[in-house]
Amino acid sequence: MYKTKRKLIDITGPVGTCHLGVARNARVSDAVLHSTWNVQGHRSRYFHALYDRIQAGQVPLDSHGSDMVLWRHSENDNKSCFSSSKTWEQIRNRKATVFWSDRMRAWGVQQSCVLCVEIDETWDHVFFACPYSFTVWERVTNRLSGARTDPDWTSTLQFVSVNSLQIMDKILLKMAFQSCIYHLWKERNERWHHTGFQTVDQLYRIIDKAVRNRITSLRYKADHKLTSLMW
Ligand SMILES: [Zn+2]
Repeated sequence: MYKTKRKLIDITGPVGTCHLGVARNARVSDAVLHSTWNVQGHRSRYFHALYDRIQAGQVPLDSHGSDMVLWRHSENDNKSCFSSSKTWEQIRNRKATVFWSDRMRAWGVQQSCVLCVEIDETWDHVFFACPYSFTVWERVTNRLSGARTDPDWTSTLQFVSVNSLQIMDKILLKMAFQSCIYHLWKERNERWHHTGFQTVDQLYRIIDKAVRNRITSLRYKADHKLTSLMW
């Protein structure tokens, strides 16, 4: 049995396979020759320390016992038993519970829209049948979606999820969508509690700035290899 806490490729990036002389699809046993680690990198200026750490690790040998399957229960916890709930935790898309979900469930009472003068405030009205929210959403996305901006929630969701935009535009559209939902709902709550009032122009500028800040921070993180572009 041999277990690694982190994959080598996660530490070195794809270039590591060349520097360490280990194939991308190699098993641990493929990196062992005559009972010693068979990796390169001691001359590499980038992977010298990694090479030393590998050399210091225990070499997996037949005498240590047979291989066994381990299931990942959390980042640093592998067990021989399989747990469907722990596996689901590993593969599901981790997303924070949206702060408006409880409120949405509580809806049932008819109340008027504070963004316009419509009597019945429903989810479909706020996103994006409401003239106020539709105008904001339309202005934020018109360059990305062209004439396809739709006041219908289901169509909008479908367009944001599946479209033929270029990869960067896809990411930008999702960011804009997320930001619009957040700021429109915030605006709705602030008006409801009489703590704020933004015009369409003002809210558009707030969302535009929020998306720009997010792009800048992602670019910074990407430059420093701290994270990927996906969110
Ligand atoms: Zn409205």
